[in-house]
Amino acid sequence: MTTRSETQTTLDHLLTEIEHRNPAQPEFHQAAHEVLETLAPVVAARPEYAEPGLIERLVEPERQVIFRVPWQDDQGRVRVNRGFRVEFNSALGPYKGGLRFHPSVNLGVIKFLGFEQIFKNALTGLGIGGGKGGSDFDPHGRSDAEVMRFCQSFMTELYRHIGEHTDVPAGDIGVGGREIGYLFGQYRRITNRWEAGVLTGKGRGWGGSLIRPEATGYGNVLFAAAMMRERGEDLEGQTAVVSGSGNVAIYTIEKLTALGANAVTCSDSSGYVVDEKGIDLDLLKQIKEVERGRVDAYAERRGASARFVPGGSVWDVPADLALPSATQNELDENAAATLIRNGVKAVSEGANMPTTPEAVHLLQQAGVAFGPGKAANAGGVAVSALEMAQNHARTSWTATRVEEELADIMTSIHTTCHETAERYDAPGDYVTGANIAGFERVADAMLAQGVI
Ligand code: GLU
Repeated sequence: MTTRSETQTTLDHLLTEIEHRNPAQPEFHQAAHEVLETLAPVVAARPEYAEPGLIERLVEPERQVIFRVPWQDDQGRVRVNRGFRVEFNSALGPYKGGLRFHPSVNLGVIKFLGFEQIFKNALTGLGIGGGKGGSDFDPHGRSDAEVMRFCQSFMTELYRHIGEHTDVPAGDIGVGGREIGYLFGQYRRITNRWEAGVLTGKGRGWGGSLIRPEATGYGNVLFAAAMMRERGEDLEGQTAVVSGSGNVAIYTIEKLTALGANAVTCSDSSGYVVDEKGIDLDLLKQIKEVERGRVDAYAERRGASARFVPGGSVWDVPADLALPSATQNELDENAAATLIRNGVKAVSEGANMPTTPEAVHLLQQAGVAFGPGKAANAGGVAVSALEMAQNHARTSWTATRVEEELADIMTSIHTTCHETAERYDAPGDYVTGANIAGFERVADAMLAQGVI
């Protein structure tokens, strides 16, 4: 029997090899580290997982597609962006994961997101594999017509790689209902097929699921509530800081408010807003979803209770709960130390990998409940899988039904992570629980399906 420390040495060698084989992909290295540094107990306990090549296969995407995306701006100038789709693992079902349109996108970023997605999707228990895609295209300041031409060009290549039983993209940063509409239209035109289940996050009149836009934020708040229950508390009366002001942040604030918490912040790349009375969601939705504006406009229009802090860190605002809902590595060691000093009780990740590894360790050492994104924000992709189920059955469910299913899924993910952590001598460590539980499901399927 191999010991945990021998197993950890093997995993550490593998991590070094991953860094050599995938140069200049720091986000992917970080995501691989975060998973592999928690797997030693399960690999040591179950010899089949130590089988040569299993973890090596898991960290190598099944397929990676990189393509040119040429399009014309409103002045007729030709622009060229780069498109990506990383089909990481299909042991549990068709590749599933969003598309991100943001200037920071590169292969390493898409690989980190795709790698996380494998475990997240496994945790939902809904039979979906892991993938991710996107482009370095920046939709900010682009007209609708430019976004449409970009999406059409992107899909003109992507269509040959996706399909309802093959690979099912959805939204992520920079890709919402508008972009999914243009992408779906072009797919339908090229293939001459009404294949609703090829994309999720569609409009409600043409195959979209009710509650899909809300699902990531709602699910994260349900996960945070479950972690608080373990500590004998609920969300009523708790002050919450939320970063970001996109889809995830907006519906996080909505659910927090519905459950009696006071969500006092939101942010974007220009700074953050703090509103002592709690964020006014109608105003925030008007500015972000209708006008596609910036958060400083919120403070200007809200009146005395709100102020805009240019360039500051949202984590400076004292709170009981912190829900990072913007982007990767937005909550670092200094921010974690400030949150701890201010008495934070729980941190739950709405975004993917928003907390740096140093910050995660600090929070856990201080006894703060920490919900990793692959568990806490799995509600979004879970409702995407429910959208696929509705599409395949040619039906649509009520909002109440979808919300009930979402609540059940989040409770079950919380229980799975909690119990798995206890089983592997790491009580209360949701990072270990989520990684091991997700890994077991994917690894069992990969072993059963042979060396492919
Ligand atoms: N982009 C979301 C995520 O990070 C959703 C993916 C999906 O719905 O396929 O999980």
